[in-house]
Amino acid sequence: MQVVKKEILIAGGGIGGLAAALALARQGVDVTLLERAEAFQEFGAGIQIGPNVTRTLFSWGLDDALRSLASFPDSLQVRQAKSGQTLGSLPFGSRTTLRYGAPYASIARADLHQLLLQSVIDTGRVELHLNQNLIRLMSSQDGVEVHTQSGQAFLAQAMVGADGLWSVARQYLLGDIAPRKSGLLAYRTMIAQKNLPVHLRSQDVTVWLGSRMHAVQYPVRRGELLNLVVIVPGLAPAQAPQWDHGAHAADLRSAMGAVLHPALEAVLDAAPSWRLWPLCDRPPLAGAHEMAQGPVALLGDAAHPMRPFLAQGAGMAVEDADQLAQCWARSDLKVPERWALYAKNRWERNARVQQRSIRNGQIFHASGLIGWGRDLAIRLMGERLMDVPWLYGGP
Ligand SMILES: Cc1cc2nc3c(=O)[nH]c(=O)nc-3n(C[C@H](O)[C@H](O)[C@H](O)COP(=O)(O)OP(=O)(O)OC[C@H]3O[C@@H](n4cnc5c(N)ncnc54)[C@H](O)[C@@H]3O)c2cc1C
Repeated sequence: MQVVKKEILIAGGGIGGLAAALALARQGVDVTLLERAEAFQEFGAGIQIGPNVTRTLFSWGLDDALRSLASFPDSLQVRQAKSGQTLGSLPFGSRTTLRYGAPYASIARADLHQLLLQSVIDTGRVELHLNQNLIRLMSSQDGVEVHTQSGQAFLAQAMVGADGLWSVARQYLLGDIAPRKSGLLAYRTMIAQKNLPVHLRSQDVTVWLGSRMHAVQYPVRRGELLNLVVIVPGLAPAQAPQWDHGAHAADLRSAMGAVLHPALEAVLDAAPSWRLWPLCDRPPLAGAHEMAQGPVALLGDAAHPMRPFLAQGAGMAVEDADQLAQCWARSDLKVPERWALYAKNRWERNARVQQRSIRNGQIFHASGLIGWGRDLAIRLMGERLMDVPWLYGGP
């Protein structure tokens, strides 16, 4: 069988892989994308996208599509889970656009995924292959040879591993151990805002801080739905799959412990169902070699899975994608040099975001005296603590 050599092969069709395909195809690059699932799909939770990310998506011509699907929260509110007291707030809206050149947005993952997929298809430059589970790859000076479970082989000049937390491409590149369990569980749900009493409907991002738990709610799909995620300590049940299995409100309520403010109780009670994700991550990147070697580059969770306390995992995948395409355009460089430049330009920022996400988690879940100090600091410093100029103004 004759195998045609591709220009770039991407393994993984999540938000990161599709973003990379789009960024490359927009520059006239022919891309082949392999996804192991039998359909392109995303689990129905939401994600926040900071202005650093909306700016990139807008620069790819996605502004109209995003405006028709996403929500643009008015502000970030930090409240005590027990008393309901507002500790601090940060306005978004025109302030964010003026400061960072793009708005703060929140969107259903499925909507962002579908939007990227449609944009990828519209370029006419991306070959999409479903049911192609990458199991093995070999690389040399001449390029990459990839094998999938269905027995197919693909040759390419270069490859991008965007195959997520349990990345096979990463295993090949770094041969390291499995991701680490954080000992935290994320319960996620979406509630139709029309089913909530008027006083509980919200167009803000609200973070509820408790003792060793926190909850975040924000609007998605033009504000019609309220996404709610609650993070509590706990281990996944032994026989559970690695992530995303059905979860029960009663388990969540007992994990949240103490008395909660009636507004938070009421939103929790309105959840139609819950999904449960055990949270895993990896230690922050230690160097550029962890993001690319030779003709193979890693992107998104394959390279730098992080805890969700800065709401930037998918955001960093989008930033990676943009940088990857810019480096590929450097036709004065050889293929491994292009990926080396990509890794050099990205690893420190990704490591910083990973590090800050871990630290935020410790702060969010502080209890006792430290929790009291945290609340006081937010009251006193409010906006200065909640805004993140180095992140939102970057990369
Ligand atoms: C509770 C929670 C809240 C979050 N909130 C936010 C937020 O608000 N903002 C934000 O920016 N990020 C957030 N994130 C992080 C974000 O979800 C991830 O960082 C992002 O989805 C990673 O995208 P990815 O494409 O790199 O990986 P994935 O989404 O995991 O996609 C990987 C793709 O590769 C495919 N694949 C896997 N293995 C293979 C293989 N061997 N061969 C072929 N294909 C393969 C998979 O099927 C999948 O389609 C959150 C995460 C969690 C858990």
